[in-house]
Amino acid sequence: MRITDDQRTALQNLIELTPNGRALRHEHDNPKRGAELQDLVRTHKELGEERTRASEGVDRLRSAIGETNALIEAQRTQIEKKTAELNDGTGLTSRDLVNLQNEIAGHEDRVSELEESQLEEMERLETAEAELSGVDDRIAEVTTAGKEVQTAVKDRKAELRDLISANEVSAGGAKSSLPQQLVSAFEANVAQGGPGAALLTGPNCQACGQEIGAAVWKAMLGGDLNETYECEECEAVLLRRS
Ligand SMILES: [Zn+2]
Repeated sequence: MRITDDQRTALQNLIELTPNGRALRHEHDNPKRGAELQDLVRTHKELGEERTRASEGVDRLRSAIGETNALIEAQRTQIEKKTAELNDGTGLTSRDLVNLQNEIAGHEDRVSELEESQLEEMERLETAEAELSGVDDRIAEVTTAGKEVQTAVKDRKAELRDLISANEVSAGGAKSSLPQQLVSAFEANVAQGGPGAALLTGPNCQACGQEIGAAVWKAMLGGDLNETYECEECEAVLLRRS
C-alpha cells in the first residue's frame, strides 16, 4: 500500500512508540524495586516472629523472678514466725530451742540459695530484654526502609501511568493519520506480541526474521519508498528504510 510522506512519518513514530509503550507497561507491572520490597516484607514478617519469641522469653523470666520472690517471701515468713517462737520461748525445752535455731538457719540457707538463683534470672532477663530491644530496633529500620521503597514504587508507577498515557495518545494520533487497513494489520501483529511494523534494512522481515525472496526484494527495491508491504509470515507492516 502506498502511503504519503506524512503517513510514513506517522508509521515511523508508531514503530518507535510501540516497543517503548510495551516496555513502560512491563515496568509498571514488574516494578524495578518490587523484589527489594518483597524482601523487606519477608524480613519484617520474620522479625515479627523473632520478636514474639524474644518477648515470650522476657515474660517467662519475669514470671520466674516473681515466683522466686514468692518463695523467698514464704521462707522469710517462716523465719519471722520461728524467730518469734524462739524469742518468746514459752514452754520450750532446750532441745526445742536448738531445733528452732536449726530450722531458722535452714530457712536462711534456702533464702540465700533462692536469692542467688534470682540474681542469675535477673542477669538472663537483662540479656533477653536487650535482645528484644535489638529486634525492635531492626523492625523499626525495616519498617522505615519498607515505607521508603513502597513510596518509591508507588511514585514510579504513577509516573509510568503518565508516560503510558502520553505514549497511547501519541500512538493514537499516529494511527488516526494512517489507512485503516494498515492500522488493522499493525494491531493484529502487536496483539501477537510483535512490533506491529518494522523498517526493512535488508531482505529479512525485521519483525520475525523471515527471509524475503530475492525476486520480491528486488521488486521492493525498485518500488516507491513509501510503498508498504505485509510480511507473509507474521503479517507485520513493512516499510523500506529511507
Ligand atoms: Zn515477519
